[in-house]
Amino acid sequence: MTLPRIRILATGGTIAGSASSATDATGYRAGTASVDELIASVPALRELADLSGEQFGQLDSSDLTDALLLDLARRVQQLVDDPWVDGVVVTHGTDTLEETAYLLHLVLSTEKPVVLVGAMRPATALSADGPRNLFAAVTVAVSPATLGRGVLVVLDDEVHTARDVTKTTSLGVHAFASPYGPLGVVTDGRVAFYRSVDRPHTARTEFGIPEALPRSAVLFAHTGLDAASVEALDGVDVIVHAGFGNGTVSARLVDALDAARARGALVVRASRVGSGTLTVVGASADAANRWVAADDQNPQRARLLGALALTVTRDPAEVQRIFHTY
Ligand code: ASP
Repeated sequence: MTLPRIRILATGGTIAGSASSATDATGYRAGTASVDELIASVPALRELADLSGEQFGQLDSSDLTDALLLDLARRVQQLVDDPWVDGVVVTHGTDTLEETAYLLHLVLSTEKPVVLVGAMRPATALSADGPRNLFAAVTVAVSPATLGRGVLVVLDDEVHTARDVTKTTSLGVHAFASPYGPLGVVTDGRVAFYRSVDRPHTARTEFGIPEALPRSAVLFAHTGLDAASVEALDGVDVIVHAGFGNGTVSARLVDALDAARARGALVVRASRVGSGTLTVVGASADAANRWVAADDQNPQRARLLGALALTVTRDPAEVQRIFHTY
């Protein structure tokens, strides 16, 4: 029997991290174990797939840049274009895993499985979660049921869509959740899917992998935030304002955001509350097509979608359509 050929692309993170003691789950260095060591730590993987490993990097994911994200996207695209590769598993730090997954979900052109996986405990810890998560990720990557579902994130036996998943807690192995729930679960080497996402992704988006992304920044609203904080973002192409409640912007900031818009920046209203959909409020700046509402996207994903949108249009009404599409 021929096994599916899965490439494991390792980028670093806690899943490859090591500490000096098995009881230390936080004082460790991310990105030390090699991809071959990760694969060797789970002998049962060899029963699931014909595996090969590749070291993309050894980074703490907080050190990733947009340029590196695009390099990673180009490499994953090359791999999925290779007829000898049936699927790709990317090992990644959990801190920015949701951003990498979302970018890949929007720019890759493929029906093949692309699965991101991380761990909350370093490889040297008691009850390290990395080996189990890696086994689950490969389980998902080899399943025919995974084809065409876009980029997936697997942690703690759950399968999430890259469109929705977010890291919800700083410690603990159940650190990822999606506002509408996981797509499926992994149990004893089998994956069961219960739903799929409606919004277009991978082969069905209007985005390719751009040469570069425009500069973007997220401004987190708080009582007393002043216009000078917006003015300091001079030169930034995408300003995501993580506002109050339904994306409310303080009256103190409106002129500065409009000035940013007037110099050509894209202004996106998101919310700092963590879940929910933003409405385009009548008579607001986005109803007048000056700014754009982030729909239900969190600020860190909204800044990626905004940056990608600018690679295809500069018209805020078009960018609003993009936010309501993806
Ligand atoms: N700082 C680590 C990283 O994101 C955290 C983790 O992987 O859980 O690389």
